[in-house]
Amino acid sequence: MSAIPGVGPRRVEALRELGIRNVGQLLAHLPFRHEFEAGEAKLSELQPGGVVSARGEVTATRVARGKKTRFEAVLADETGRLDLVWFNGTHLVKSIQPGMRIRVQGKSRTHGPRGYGVQLVNPKWERIAEDDVAAPPKSSDRLRPVYPASEGIDSHAIERAIDKILDRALPLIEEHFSTEFLREKNMPSLPDAYRMMHRPTNEEETLAARRRLAYDELFMLQLAVQMRRAKQRRETRAPSLKWNERIDRHIRERIPFTLTPGQDAAVREIADDLQRTEPANRLIQGDVGSGKTVVALYAMLMAVASNTQAALMAPTEILAEQHFLSMSTLLKGSTVRVELLTGALAKDDRERALARIERGEADIVIGTHALLTESVRFNDLAVAIVDEQHRFGVQQRATLRERADDPSSTPHTLVMTATPIPRTLALTIFGDLDVSNIQGLPPGRQPITTRVVSDAQRDEVYAFARERLDQGDQAYIVLPAIEDSPQLRGVRSTLAWLEQTHFAGKRVAALHGQLKRETREHVMERFRAGLIDALVATTVIEVGVDVANANLMIVEQADRFGLAQLHQLRGRVGRGERKSVCILIGDATTPDAQQRLDAMRTMSDGFQLAEKDFEIRGPGEMLGLRQAGAPPFRIADLARDFDLLRMARRDASARIERSPDLDKPEDTLLRARMLKLHRQWLGLADVA
Ligand code: ADP
Ligand code: MG
Repeated sequence: MSAIPGVGPRRVEALRELGIRNVGQLLAHLPFRHEFEAGEAKLSELQPGGVVSARGEVTATRVARGKKTRFEAVLADETGRLDLVWFNGTHLVKSIQPGMRIRVQGKSRTHGPRGYGVQLVNPKWERIAEDDVAAPPKSSDRLRPVYPASEGIDSHAIERAIDKILDRALPLIEEHFSTEFLREKNMPSLPDAYRMMHRPTNEEETLAARRRLAYDELFMLQLAVQMRRAKQRRETRAPSLKWNERIDRHIRERIPFTLTPGQDAAVREIADDLQRTEPANRLIQGDVGSGKTVVALYAMLMAVASNTQAALMAPTEILAEQHFLSMSTLLKGSTVRVELLTGALAKDDRERALARIERGEADIVIGTHALLTESVRFNDLAVAIVDEQHRFGVQQRATLRERADDPSSTPHTLVMTATPIPRTLALTIFGDLDVSNIQGLPPGRQPITTRVVSDAQRDEVYAFARERLDQGDQAYIVLPAIEDSPQLRGVRSTLAWLEQTHFAGKRVAALHGQLKRETREHVMERFRAGLIDALVATTVIEVGVDVANANLMIVEQADRFGLAQLHQLRGRVGRGERKSVCILIGDATTPDAQQRLDAMRTMSDGFQLAEKDFEIRGPGEMLGLRQAGAPPFRIADLARDFDLLRMARRDASARIERSPDLDKPEDTLLRARMLKLHRQWLGLADVA
């Protein structure tokens, strides 16, 4: 790097900090935008009107105070002089000094009482670096790249460094697509695309280059995801489960209500999946309260009907415990053996449970993700269900499948979520999933009224809550922490305060992750039985908790919670016949928080909210790419490049179909580049 003219040790270090250690990486450091730069003219040739650009030496400066305080400078070259003025620019007196050489660009106007001379008002300016003084001024208009820079090195210095290597480096870039392919796609070659990015001749070029490079990123990811899928299909077998009218009838007899059309459709798709020998990999999306649990039960009972095991994994112990309770109730009087396995079990109990699971004496195992990470051995696991996927990354899904010691018997995997995956993500890292949507809610649900109120109205909120409790309603009160902190209000202090004030005489209890399992179960049991009026809780109740009589949800410091979280919390109410209310207390201090609260106030549909969330947070933050450890996109923008993404997906799939291992000679480079990017995080490590 230090061989590049103008790049001394200080800049080498600054580039290193930007992650640039060699010429290849420098070339791959792409501008994030381009700005128009007028061709430079001699000072005597400048005309008033229009954007002009020029360079020269600063010969004088001054700060002029008065009605319009301003900073003025005079620029001179061998042909003439130019007046520069910056209104409110007095701070510039420190940076623009006589003797300095600078380049300026701005709108020119006639200047002076008799209209002679030209003046630039508030021009953009840059100092001409020592090593660049000799370079000739660019005499024609151009698009100038603007690079991600740092304190140690600015965009201009990066531009000069790239400029010095570009001509030599471009011919060294190898293309991984064939000429025909690129022609068909109407895309420039890689060397051309890099040239167009760094040194475009017009705007069309920057767009074409961006499209090509964004396509490459999307295509590589698709290729990786689909290669993994093809590999799984080839190498793994799942037990084919039995299904017939009789089994269907038996299972439905266990469910105390008629399935909604949405549940029915999901059940049909699952029954189809589970009869195959190809391991199912299905995402079941259904809004909060749509009734995913019984759909899971259906799948698990199919496993039991074929004398195999099923596992259900929940993100929290409370939810696991609740699933265990409700499954046990539904299966009472049957021969199905349900086992609960969480981290909260005492050592002996745990060992006995593990032994029963391993010997096949447990048919349905319910637990937290401890089921994935610990030494749980199944006798014959056929169906694995992950509830509320938004708490699980892709990685964990992979672990789950790899746990099958014997690839000839991989469990069918179902993932249930109330946080639908935005369509773009559904096509990227989740591209290997089949998706079922449970449309609609069970009958009789009342819409929930949502209010957003300021913290100043907290007392009013609790006075209102008190009235509801007096009428026999039950409430959840959610706080962002257990203990108070300077930023966060905690469960403990709020509980104490409520007991002494608004809720005096009411039965109030705390629920959070630090409580012992027995305490927690006891509290939930009494809440369910109506022996507790209000639960003051952390987000441990965020998912899955299901108590129909609870119809008031109060979330404090709601601006602190994510949109998916708020939607989940709200979903804890609205399950019974009585009208439910959700009150979000909070004062948004950021625009994002404001948007989240607004969305909650105006939207109730989980799918709509998920798209909104995606919009607010941007794709990288969402459950997925970053969390999963995927390299971030440098150019592609999932929110913008949807069509490109679809095209990349189609093309990748065609290629993998033609050559599942990408071992054709023409794919060698493509394959190497793809693996370099995605091998690690996608668990393609065993691909040679
Ligand atoms: P989620 O999709 O949020 O996991 P649950 O499975 O917890 O929803 O179901 C929410 C509530 O709706 C439960 O009390 C469940 O018993 C009830 N329920 C589910 N399906 C039906 C149905 N088809 N008819 C009536 N009630 C149902
Ligand atoms: Mg659920």
